[in-house]
Amino acid sequence: DLQMVWFRSDLRTLDNRALSAAAERGPVIAVFLTSIPQWQRHDHGANKIDFWLRGVAALREHLSGLNIPLLQRRIETYDEAPDALLKLAHQHGATALHFNREYPLNERRRDAAVERAFHDAGIAVTGHTDAVAYAPGELLTGKGEPYSVFTPFAKAWHRQLEGHRLALTHAPAPQTRLAIEADPAPSRELPDACDTPLDASRWPAGQEEAGDRLERFLRFRGRHYRRQRDFPALPGTSELSPYLALGMLSHRQCLQAVMSDNDGHLADGDAGLTAWANELIWREFYLHIAASFPDISRHRPFQPHTRDLAWRDDDAGFRAWCEGRTGYPLVDAAMRQLVQCGWMHNRLRMVTAMFLSKHLLIDWRRGEAFFMRHLVDGDFASNNGGWQWAASTGTDAAPYFRIFNPTTQAERFDPEGRFIAHWLPELAPLAVKSRFFPSEAQRRDTGYTLPIVDHKAARQRALDAFKSLSS
Ligand code: FAD
Repeated sequence: DLQMVWFRSDLRTLDNRALSAAAERGPVIAVFLTSIPQWQRHDHGANKIDFWLRGVAALREHLSGLNIPLLQRRIETYDEAPDALLKLAHQHGATALHFNREYPLNERRRDAAVERAFHDAGIAVTGHTDAVAYAPGELLTGKGEPYSVFTPFAKAWHRQLEGHRLALTHAPAPQTRLAIEADPAPSRELPDACDTPLDASRWPAGQEEAGDRLERFLRFRGRHYRRQRDFPALPGTSELSPYLALGMLSHRQCLQAVMSDNDGHLADGDAGLTAWANELIWREFYLHIAASFPDISRHRPFQPHTRDLAWRDDDAGFRAWCEGRTGYPLVDAAMRQLVQCGWMHNRLRMVTAMFLSKHLLIDWRRGEAFFMRHLVDGDFASNNGGWQWAASTGTDAAPYFRIFNPTTQAERFDPEGRFIAHWLPELAPLAVKSRFFPSEAQRRDTGYTLPIVDHKAARQRALDAFKSLSS
């Protein structure tokens, strides 16, 4: 019975639930639908799309080692997915389709349409739970509702964790060669509407690279994670987010590796390793939020009363933020890191997102989209979760009156001003203390821009805007 596995953002042969289940049932063919126009509608930019396509190329090699042919089709939008898949299933006589579930609304609609089409055609379909330990709906509060606060979610996650949830699946053994050839590798050329992606060597794609990075992180940095994670000048975090976002690495592989370095524990033991494991639970929390609250996929705030917030129209301010010209060094350095690396340190994602949504009082959705267009790890659930946290419109969000002061954040988290000096070399000649917020004279001398808002006044404006909402 020929099994068809539809890969999406799970680009690996190791510990892949859909692939392993299919391989247990019969010979396998693999499919990938390249849907660049749809991805662009979701604001994915050149960096992420290029990484995605390089990930598919790497997957093709691994599948080929298992004698599994990868068939690739181009579609414009998700609406075309059912026909494209059915055509392939009929052409090759597949009797079953497998895929790993995805949770944002459009992806769920796409998958439901595929399930209906296959059902009507009499071909079996199985959606597997792979990206998360618990399928959304499996972890509920005492009232039977989805969690909307992280800490109780994480407690329940640990409490109910039976071993099977994080068990790695067996990698399939090479199968007998089929008479079906893989499609020739399609060109990875991006459409004209895309910017030029970053140099591919910055983020090599594929499961091998992901596995190596995980091993290096745990060996050299994992135990220091809790102490170093908040300092963007240090390589204190794993930088695995692009690999997790496209499934070149599974969360189970990460958590199993933590347990094997930590006497089998995730919640107790080494403080660095357990803090890191906790971040992977944040990732799962936001995936559950995306699945349980489809309104957030419709560009709506999680907290309905914040819908009426009077966001400012300020194109000049928005452009200054995008281009790293706000006059607040930590914000500007961070925005340059984003544009030049396709990645930004978590502390700085919080600082820059708060600056846009509070100091500039610009609609967080503009920032969310800008991040997506540049991030190589762009992931709807985590990005939306992070933005709504910063804008105080989300689940478990920062209370609106706790507004980061970007200068104090710089003093605390870049105490030697090294990160600032790296991304804003014009400030490097200044004494460390002055890099956090140069004086007017220093700005004149170095050519660094004046602040576009005054911290105190901007803070008060944001407080007033939030206070005037009736909750
Ligand atoms: P590590 O600190 O090594 O953490 C390990 C993994 O845990 C990460 O790779 C990631 O998968 C997960 N993780 C860590 N922190 C979070 C978090 N706060 N929420 C959810 N998952 C987390 N993460 C994305 O993967 N894609 C995004 O598009 C994204 N956008 C964000 C936007 C904003 C405004 C904010 C505040 C956060 C965003 N994050 C996003 C979460 C976080 O910033 C990144 O996952 C992290 O910086 C990636 O670096 P790392 O792999 O070195 O993380």
